[in-house]
Amino acid sequence: MAAAAQAATGSVVTARIDTAALIRNARTVAARVAPAQLMAVVKADAYGHSIDIVAPALYAAGLRDFAVATVPEAVALSQLLGPDSGARILCWLFDSAADLTACTRAGIELGISTPEALEAAIAAGEQTGLTQDVHLKLDTGLGRNGLSLQQLETVLDRLRELATQAGTAARAQGTTASAPVRVTGIMTHFANADIPGDPATVDQLHCFDTLYGRLQAELPYALRADDLMVTLANSPAALSLDPVPGSHVRAGISLYGISPFEDRTAAQLGLTPVMTVTSRVLNVKDVPAGHGASYGLTYRCERDTRFALVAGGYGDGLPRIAGNRGEVAIQGRRYPIVGRIAMDQMILDIGPAETGGEVAIGDEVIIIGDGTTGPSAEEWASWCETINYEIVTCISARVDRIAVGADAGSAPAPGDHTRGGAQ
Ligand SMILES: *Cc1c(COP(=O)(O)O)cnc(C)c1O
Repeated sequence: MAAAAQAATGSVVTARIDTAALIRNARTVAARVAPAQLMAVVKADAYGHSIDIVAPALYAAGLRDFAVATVPEAVALSQLLGPDSGARILCWLFDSAADLTACTRAGIELGISTPEALEAAIAAGEQTGLTQDVHLKLDTGLGRNGLSLQQLETVLDRLRELATQAGTAARAQGTTASAPVRVTGIMTHFANADIPGDPATVDQLHCFDTLYGRLQAELPYALRADDLMVTLANSPAALSLDPVPGSHVRAGISLYGISPFEDRTAAQLGLTPVMTVTSRVLNVKDVPAGHGASYGLTYRCERDTRFALVAGGYGDGLPRIAGNRGEVAIQGRRYPIVGRIAMDQMILDIGPAETGGEVAIGDEVIIIGDGTTGPSAEEWASWCETINYEIVTCISARVDRIAVGADAGSAPAPGDHTRGGAQ
């Protein structure tokens, strides 16, 4: 039954990444938000889907705007796509004490959330003799990162001062001044966009409009791009607001075929889950009534039955809390996970042989599927008291990501370190 057996060096638990579904999802989101454009958020290893698979696939489909959270993520993405890719990469979470010259050299754009971060960007521009592009990140109500009104005043004062310095230097040298920073974008982030119609989103939009009007008037001309990239919407805002605000949306979860809404499924949004987590049955045995399962013996079978052992545990990112709650699928049929999920393995009660359900060693197990093939990320989220985002993002590095889909046969990019393969 173990068709298409993995090479012995590959992991038993694998995450198949359907690049054809990824591209369909990206096109669906892009069509929904037009004339705004799609910026693909590929932080946290593309929400656990492997940036090495996801970013080149989106790039090959024509996408050029990418965002990640951290500087190391941005630098790695820049190297992955190559120096002449023409891609724009934005990141927004960094320590303003850090050296940002790697960003400046790679043309990576930085979201600025404090006056200190602006100073770090200026220092990087001055050290390299280049211009560091920045997006002013405004806190319009989320209270997380982003410039407060007071911090924005400080940033504007500093930009005016820089513009004056640059102007003076240019006149002295009779040249066009190149300033160490340039504002190429304005951004903010919503708190409650996953609840369509929530008044907090309306308040944030008003706040943004006011600040954006001010910035249009007050950003020093010498330090701003002609075409500001204006980004507000995450996936839930991109899929629910009409019209979609901004020149671009910063969409992550929807690209992976996962619904950001509690009450709307991926299918209802026209999205297809990209990740399928599979494993195999490693052992099947008869056990008598009363037999316990796993550490703590928190489950005891009521009748003579069979236990099936499946590779996969919290070391693979499958939360332990799903023990005695969750299910997995074998040949389209659901079986309960009994007892505690261990670091590497879990136990299923597959019932006595006579009740049907032929389960054998080597059978494929769908741990996370689309709800039909196997439990969805939403089902896992409900068993684990979390959200679907966390379920896929936490699938660990031990799990091989394997590209499948229309272009899965293409050779991996140079320097691609994705394990597994595309067979
Ligand atoms: C993660 C993130 C996004 C993407 O959000 P999704 O809901 O996954 O689309 C956009 N903007 C910021 C600032 C983020 O941190």
